[in-house]
Amino acid sequence: MGSRRECTRILGLEGYRVEQVEWEAAGSRARLRIWVTRRGIRAHECSGCGRRTWQVRDAKLRTWDDLPWAAHRVTVMYRQCRVRCRACGIRTERVAFADPKARVTRRLRQVIGLDCQSMPTSHAAVRHGVSWSKARRAERAFLETWDRGRPKRRPRHLGADEIHRGKRQKFYTVLSDLVHGEVIGLAPDRTEESLAGLLTTTLDARQRAAVEAVCTDMHRPYLNAVASVLPKATVVLDKFHVLQHAAAALDEVRRQEFFRAGAVMRRFGRGKRWLLLRRWKTVRGSKRQELRALFAANRRLFKAYVLREELDRLWTYKTREGVAEFLFGWLKALRWQRLPEMERLADTLVKHFDGIAAYCDHAVRFGVVESLNTTIKGVIRRARGMRDETTLLLKLKWASARPIRSARDLARFLEFI
Ligand SMILES: [Zn+2]
Repeated sequence: MGSRRECTRILGLEGYRVEQVEWEAAGSRARLRIWVTRRGIRAHECSGCGRRTWQVRDAKLRTWDDLPWAAHRVTVMYRQCRVRCRACGIRTERVAFADPKARVTRRLRQVIGLDCQSMPTSHAAVRHGVSWSKARRAERAFLETWDRGRPKRRPRHLGADEIHRGKRQKFYTVLSDLVHGEVIGLAPDRTEESLAGLLTTTLDARQRAAVEAVCTDMHRPYLNAVASVLPKATVVLDKFHVLQHAAAALDEVRRQEFFRAGAVMRRFGRGKRWLLLRRWKTVRGSKRQELRALFAANRRLFKAYVLREELDRLWTYKTREGVAEFLFGWLKALRWQRLPEMERLADTLVKHFDGIAAYCDHAVRFGVVESLNTTIKGVIRRARGMRDETTLLLKLKWASARPIRSARDLARFLEFI
């Protein structure tokens, strides 16, 4: 082994020097045990409050996993003292290179935490030679540290959405900041209480006062929660949810016209569902021909399709009068068409006119709502049934905030101690 001074420099734990290095099991991939001691004469720091004291009760050998040296795994060995603190009583001394109670050094924690954001925890654990639970704890500590250091924002526009989770627990309610495109809070279920709870616990009074609009779907409990907690905020209905209702209505027309109209028509309409639900501008070439053939066979389906296509324009007006005028025209075009499904949709649109027209005053970024949804679903799918909601929320925050966009950002996370 090289000189101890060289080893100390390589290890690079400030305030500690290497006493001894031991190889465990010879071979190309050995484990290094590195004994370290404190440098200089300073009182011990209490891990509870940070006060310094000379009163040492006893000491115990402890180990921390650390970054590897080339191909060799490293365990840092240190006799950690227990001190008598004036304020806290008997506590362990604080070590500069790791969090209290953590069994990995802080720099290894950073690397594991970072890896866990792009691979499953089990992979990251194997990669760094630690157990799954150690990796999970490291990830959580990493994310908590990151989250604590972030500024508290006052979002003008909020988004509240339900995310389908799985069989046992059906839904999550997710609250997000639509201006910055970040997740703020997560709660189980999709009841009025879950959203009201989120709005009161994740936002303080100043933040709540700054909210001008909340973008949500027509889910009644959400509308109630917003009305009771944020009486001054306007509800803007999410465009994609409204269009989803329209697509469902169109699909129902297709079923009526083709499937309940005898065998010949049924054969003709088979396998056309996804084609029909696509927007005209995204349909190309021979598929357009197919659609045209379908419309030629059934005028009513054509009419319903055109009505659905036109609904996009609800969000192009600058004034409520414009929206009202368009909707009026749309309703008129629907009259005498004998399309009960579309009429039901029309009722919904009229009933929720305020929420739709609110977009004129509060141009919520619908694109952000959509991209957040995709991100959230991706994280939840990858975290497969994660029980720990706190960590899941932190993961969602990380994925939506995307804090690493350049080499400099990355360096900030990997600067040790
Ligand atoms: Zn203390």
